[in-house]
Amino acid sequence: MKEKNICKKLSGSYLNDFSHIYIERGVLDHPAAQQIVHKFPDARTVVIDHYAHIFNRPRQNSIVQKRSRKLILAKKEVDFIYRGSELCENFGEENFYYSSSILNCIYDCDYCYLQGMYTTGNVVMFVNLEDYFAAVDALTEDKKIYLCLSYDSDLLAFENITGFTNRWIDYAAGNANLLAEIRTKSANFSAIAHRPIPDNVILAWTLSPQAVITQYEFGTPSLEMRLKSIKQAIAKGLKVRLSFEPIMMIEDFERIYGDFMQRVFEDISPEDIRDINMGVFRMSKEHFKRMDKLKGTSRAFAYPMHCVNGYVSYRQEEKLKQLVTEMVPGAEVKKLLRIQ
Ligand code: SF4
Repeated sequence: MKEKNICKKLSGSYLNDFSHIYIERGVLDHPAAQQIVHKFPDARTVVIDHYAHIFNRPRQNSIVQKRSRKLILAKKEVDFIYRGSELCENFGEENFYYSSSILNCIYDCDYCYLQGMYTTGNVVMFVNLEDYFAAVDALTEDKKIYLCLSYDSDLLAFENITGFTNRWIDYAAGNANLLAEIRTKSANFSAIAHRPIPDNVILAWTLSPQAVITQYEFGTPSLEMRLKSIKQAIAKGLKVRLSFEPIMMIEDFERIYGDFMQRVFEDISPEDIRDINMGVFRMSKEHFKRMDKLKGTSRAFAYPMHCVNGYVSYRQEEKLKQLVTEMVPGAEVKKLLRIQ
C-alpha cells in the first residue's frame, strides 16, 4: 500500500489502483511484467491468452471503465513502429515515426482522440520493449529517424509503474541514428532526473492555461506543477520542447490565453527552449464522429466546428491561431514557434 501511495505522489496526478491485472500467459515470467505486478500487491491477477480478448471486447463503455480501469500486460507481436500522422507536427524531420508501448492513458482529457480510437478505458502495457528496440535497430541501420515514443498514452506519467521511459532513454543513448521525443503532461521529471539524458532524447511538455486544464484535461497536473517539472529539466541542462496543443475554445479566450503566455515565459527563457509547436484542436472525422456519439454533451465540442479535408476543427481555427501567435511574447520566442 505504501508503494502505491508513492506512485501516486510522484506522478503528480492520480493513478488507478488497478483492482485487476490481466496478464498474457506468454509474459507471466517477463521481468517487466513481474515488476509491474509487484507494484499492485492488492490487485487480482487474471491470466489470459491474448490482450485483444479483453481490450477489444465488443459493447464496452470507455467512460464507465475509466472510473475503474483495468491493467493488461501483454506482448507486442508486430507493428512496433508506425509512420507519423500528417496531423502531427514533424518538426521538419523527414523520417517521422511513432511507437506505442502503452495503449490508453491515466489522464482523461475531454478532447482526447483515444476515445474515438478505442472502445475501452482499460490500459495495455506491452512489456517486451526489447523487441521494440530490435525494430528500431533495423529501421535505423541505414538512416536517421525521428520517433515519438509517448504516443497513444503519456509514458512519463506511468514511469513509476513501468520504468519504460528510463529504458527508452538507455536505448536511445546507444543509437545515434535515433532522435526520440517523449511528450508529457505529467509533473514527473523526478522519475528521470537522476540519470544522464542524451542529446537525442527530446523532452516535450504540453502546456495549457489553467482554465483549460480545469475544464478539459481531467486528472492532469496543474500548469504550475508542469512548469516546475520543466524548470527541473532545464536546471539539469536540458533544452525542452513546449507544445501549445491543442488550443481549445473557452469562454474569455483572449484573456485566458494572454495571461497563460505571460505566465509561461515569465519562468522559461528562450535559450532553454529547443522549439515550440502550436496547433488548434483538430481530429480526424472518423474519430470525431465516434467521440461525439459517446460524449454528446462534451463542452469541447459545444462551439461551431467545421470539417476540412477529413479533419474536424473549430470554425474559428485560423483566427485562434493568429490570436495565440500574436500573444507569444518577444521575437526570440516567436522564432522558436512552429504553427500547424
Ligand atoms: S494526456 Fe494525451 S493521451 Fe492522455 S488523455 Fe490527455 S490527450 Fe489523451
